[in-house]
Amino acid sequence: MSWQDDAGRDLVRSFGPRMAMFTRGQGAYLWDDQGKQYLDFLAGIAVNSLGHAHPVFVNAITEQAATLAHVSNYFATEPQLALAATLKRLAGTGDDGRVYFANSGAEANEAAFKLARLHGGADRPRILAFTNAFHGRTMGTLALTGKPAMQEPFLPMAPGVEFIDTTVAALESALDDRVAAVFVEPIKGEAGVIDLPEGFLAAARALTEQHGALLIIDEIQTGAGRTGEWFAFQHDSITPDAITVAKGIGGGFPIGALITFPTASDLFYPGTHGSTFGGNALGTAVADAVLGEIEDAELVSNAAERGAQLRAAIDAIDSELIAGCRGRGLLVGIALAQPVAKALVEAAQVHGLIINAPNDETIRLVPALTIGDVEIDEFIELFTASLRTVEHALLIDTPTEDTA
Ligand SMILES: *Cc1c(COP(=O)(O)O)cnc(C)c1O
Repeated sequence: MSWQDDAGRDLVRSFGPRMAMFTRGQGAYLWDDQGKQYLDFLAGIAVNSLGHAHPVFVNAITEQAATLAHVSNYFATEPQLALAATLKRLAGTGDDGRVYFANSGAEANEAAFKLARLHGGADRPRILAFTNAFHGRTMGTLALTGKPAMQEPFLPMAPGVEFIDTTVAALESALDDRVAAVFVEPIKGEAGVIDLPEGFLAAARALTEQHGALLIIDEIQTGAGRTGEWFAFQHDSITPDAITVAKGIGGGFPIGALITFPTASDLFYPGTHGSTFGGNALGTAVADAVLGEIEDAELVSNAAERGAQLRAAIDAIDSELIAGCRGRGLLVGIALAQPVAKALVEAAQVHGLIINAPNDETIRLVPALTIGDVEIDEFIELFTASLRTVEHALLIDTPTEDTA
């Protein structure tokens, strides 16, 4: 029996067939069960901030597991308090911010959804979110996710959420004093790395403040330094009411969090939310160590600089398939001129490069924040080779007038 057979028989079919079987990772590289090496520009979907098997990550897990892993939220632990303080400092909440710990992005957004309801009460039943933004797969976060096809098999959704176009005009006309919260994904990662319109966050902040609605920013993909600031909202110098984080903060350990700013810090009270695993000593020790390493190794500015370098190198590739780049820092979307993203991902895998296609016309790159010149040069070489493979296939498949 092959691993493909095992996976096909034993795993729930909510995912498509697994593309490879990986057995080991080191830095920006992965190895499969055949011993083949890959350059990893997906990093577990923006999760492995420090790359694979980074000593800081490994030591934090090993030491904390040998000391104290889990005691439940009836009790405090030092790593949990340390990570809460770190997240508050990096997000800039001031003393009166608070942190709720979860185990995933969806769970962090579930907490944010409940925060919105606590703020709204009976007088503010409406919640606004944006078309094509992604907030998760659980029933609450699916209700916040503006993709009708994703919701359709699971109707009815939790009520109250309305989807609007991502424009200041749409927000202005939808907002009133019955809106509890507005949920924003600062770069729509799953939708294909789509940037917000210029000035959108500042306008959203002003409008939500005017109507007494919470501004909740989903930093699950954009946070932990990926865009060249600790959190994407910091590019716009605004103060939200809450943000959610996950993916990159644990460097590979599953952990998420809701971080409230003073305007939303007193909404939860005892009994209103909870999690058995959330904020356990093991996960919080790892995330605090990962964030500490991002800070010590100046990986936030590395993300900004390498991101610019990567974009410039992609722009310099001579290929009719490339239409341009989107995103910020090391959250890069390559817009394709033809719907060949899936074919390009497959070609890249053959060439030893892991990239991702959130849709047919976009390649998403979210490498480890630790990458340098060597990895960027190698990426360009492998990606160009993959483009050539797809271009070649297109010429073969496309009937020309000469052959007719
Ligand atoms: C990945 C993601 C989520 C969901 O996180 P999970 O850990 O998969 O539950 C939510 N919002 C955004 C913006 C994401 O990128």
